[in-house]
Amino acid sequence: MNTTPAITVINTKAVIDGTGAKPLENATVIVEGSTIKAVERRAQTFIPEGPHVKVLDFPDGYLLPGLVDVHTHLMFGDWHGHYEEVIERDSDEVCLLRAAKNALAHLKCGVTTLRDNGSRNNVTFNLREGARRGYATTPRLLLCGRPITLTGGHFHWCGQEADGVAGVRTGVRQLAKDGADHIKIMASGGGTSTTDNRRPSYTVAELRAIVNETHSIGRLTTAHCLATQSLTNALDAGVDMIEHAGFIEPDGSYKFDPRIGERIAKQDVYVSPTVQTGYRHREGLLAEQSQGPLTNDDQQKLEGLKAKCESQLDFLGRMWKESGVKIVSGTDAIKIFGDYCLGLELMSEAGMSNKDIIKASTSAAAEAIGISNLAGSVLPGKEADLIIVDKDPLQDIKALRTMSMVMRAGEQTLQSSL
Ligand SMILES: [Zn+2]
Repeated sequence: MNTTPAITVINTKAVIDGTGAKPLENATVIVEGSTIKAVERRAQTFIPEGPHVKVLDFPDGYLLPGLVDVHTHLMFGDWHGHYEEVIERDSDEVCLLRAAKNALAHLKCGVTTLRDNGSRNNVTFNLREGARRGYATTPRLLLCGRPITLTGGHFHWCGQEADGVAGVRTGVRQLAKDGADHIKIMASGGGTSTTDNRRPSYTVAELRAIVNETHSIGRLTTAHCLATQSLTNALDAGVDMIEHAGFIEPDGSYKFDPRIGERIAKQDVYVSPTVQTGYRHREGLLAEQSQGPLTNDDQQKLEGLKAKCESQLDFLGRMWKESGVKIVSGTDAIKIFGDYCLGLELMSEAGMSNKDIIKASTSAAAEAIGISNLAGSVLPGKEADLIIVDKDPLQDIKALRTMSMVMRAGEQTLQSSL
């Protein structure tokens, strides 16, 4: 039996390693099996030879770590209307097939690691098992399975309602038993019709019990926080990451609180601002409006989306610039998959530098979800999760819209000829 591992030699114009270091020009990356073996200037590299060696030349290519999306909902997809219609309409089996399609769409746009933050029952656990057996090609999947939520809480139809300190402890143990890598907490209401996004859901005591139980089994928590009070509660409980950071007041207005921003930074909590949520919907309604007047319902939706999208951008900029919060990239993809770069373009609009946006989408995101030993940077010893684009993303972040190559654990999933 031939035990020589396959070697791939990738010659590039430059390597941007994801750590924020200066790009390495005229660089060669050597991949052995699924692992990065060497990253060096071409002239200094010892190039292996033999039938097990494949050479890929990208003379105009910029090589980066595969991108990380810390927030998706894989089982949903493109439809018109509210997501609860999908819940009523589709079986878990249909959702599983769609999750596989969505995961592949994300992989093709360069996302080699994806953290799912809430799907129904065991849909995502089954997807991962299918991918392990080779039935589907997906990014590396980190899964919460079902988000933990109070009775009737946001996403309660995923199947993990839990109340009270004892109840939430049991909930965390159940999720861990089913295969959860992290615990997603619904700390406020959201778009689910039985909930209110202006108000917190769990008490601090319940949140603390979830966090302690999760940490005791060596896993991380992340909390969905739209209501301002839910941010304070989540910080009191010691969560590891905050999703959205909506800063919604009880009267429904959006109001950034710099003291909370400072607290987030001081407690070293990551924020995934999911800045693109609602953007495409708003774009679609604006396009319709340019053709003629909208219905009252759509006009109201458009106004709501304007307030939401503008506050998201504003709060991201303030958390980043004024508070020094650690920001990471999450799409909150639920309708549209494969549109990862939009969030990066909006981060740029909010005032982040391209270098920092790349970090937020690679090394910082990998660190935030606890896999920096494996992924998030182009360094020897890491998994060979790599992307190549043909323009310099440090000059223009839109370069990350089009992939010339995507490699996941040493396997090319998207080749330049495709
Ligand atoms: Zn979400």
